Amino acid sequence: YEKGVFSGMRASQISVGNELLIGETVNTNAAWIGSRLTDLGISCHRVLTVGDDPTDIRAALDLAFSDSQLVVLTGGLGPTHDDVTKATAAAYFDVGLVRHEPSYQRIRRLFQARGIPFSASNETQADLPANAEVLPNSQGTAPGFLIRHKGSVLAVMPGVPREMMAIFSEELTPRVLSLSGGPLIRHHIQVAGIGESTLSDLVIGDVARFLTDGVQMAYLPHTHGITLRVSHGPDGATAAAHLLTHIRIVAHDHIVGEGVDASLERSVVEALRSRALHLATAESCTGGWISNLVTNVPGSSAVFKGGIVAYDNAIKTVLLDVPDAMLAEHGAVSKPVALHMARMAAIRLGADIGISTTGIAGPDGGTPDKPVGMVWIGYWSEDCHFAVKARFFRDRKLNKERSAITALDILRRQLADIRSMPFDLNPES
Ligand code: ATP
Ligand code: MG
Repeated sequence: YEKGVFSGMRASQISVGNELLIGETVNTNAAWIGSRLTDLGISCHRVLTVGDDPTDIRAALDLAFSDSQLVVLTGGLGPTHDDVTKATAAAYFDVGLVRHEPSYQRIRRLFQARGIPFSASNETQADLPANAEVLPNSQGTAPGFLIRHKGSVLAVMPGVPREMMAIFSEELTPRVLSLSGGPLIRHHIQVAGIGESTLSDLVIGDVARFLTDGVQMAYLPHTHGITLRVSHGPDGATAAAHLLTHIRIVAHDHIVGEGVDASLERSVVEALRSRALHLATAESCTGGWISNLVTNVPGSSAVFKGGIVAYDNAIKTVLLDVPDAMLAEHGAVSKPVALHMARMAAIRLGADIGISTTGIAGPDGGTPDKPVGMVWIGYWSEDCHFAVKARFFRDRKLNKERSAITALDILRRQLADIRSMPFDLNPES
């Protein structure tokens, strides 16, 4: 178990519990552990879920030990008859269960402090396989434990998520890190207003030359854009820095921020704040979605005046002064109406910038001229105003969401003096 032996370590997980098999409990432990192992630079290549059954647990241990240097098992450590993990593990290694005195004293004290009677089954929680090293449980009674076996490590923890997480973070992580040579470092760059294939083929290009010394890069698309994740181990810092610099330069216009928490709405609020500008919205088809996104950002009150959800034409007329004649001539989903809405939102609400949406979210209401998913987005400030046409091809809710995101991305680009527009926009608009 020398340091370095475990670099490139492969891990298997074993989730024990009948409740997991019958769908009574969702296996959140496996997801959480998988993500933490990845953070630690350990590749989790298998999750086995088995019932509270010695034969199945043994079979899972056989398979896991056959190709994994780290085996993480949760569940079935408790004191009741259906918890068989500990006895099965002891039998698997041909050892008996031995009382771990410090754990025993700790459990006694916990029961005393809570005024709960201490029974024989509680005592057995301090019994561990004779070859185990204890992983103390700061959140509950049953400790976890670690067993080294044929060049691999088995970590066993209770199934209760809170207890498992505490043991994993406080006890297992430092031990695993000392074996693996260092954690995986991850950088996140958040991108908006560009499609995944365009970003990869035309903007970022071939990155093979950067992917040395264990550097990896992933495109993770989501409804608000794409997260670019660059990860590396202890030796990859320089190569990763070169890759990040490349991305920052070539994808500059599309980058909304860096870090897991960066987002389009945060960058917009920050840009408005740094320029001491106020925003107002007039939303028809997005139904307040833009206002919702903006007000999700802490501190948005410093830059966001408010919004008018002008869904009915009468509201567009009464609250935003859209002339009846304009509605009659062009229809509500039109460039003049989008422009007018953006301007009047800013004027009525006392903002420097107004943005608006008016479109056909679907599934009904489309015409050949104005198909489902067509949205006009308006932008107005004292010195610059325009309206652009976007087209989305999803269901009603996603069309609304994408419209709101695109409107915010237009605003972001405008505030940063970026010439290019988000990709959903129809170039002819
Ligand atoms: P304790 O010693 O506290 O009794 P235990 O190891 O016996 O813990 P289990 O009896 O297997 O744990 O499970 C306790 C609780 O944790 C149950 O409510 C169960 O649904 C939940 N749990 C167990 N395994 C998982 C899992 N993989 N993901 C999410 N929850 C789980
Ligand atoms: Mg159980």
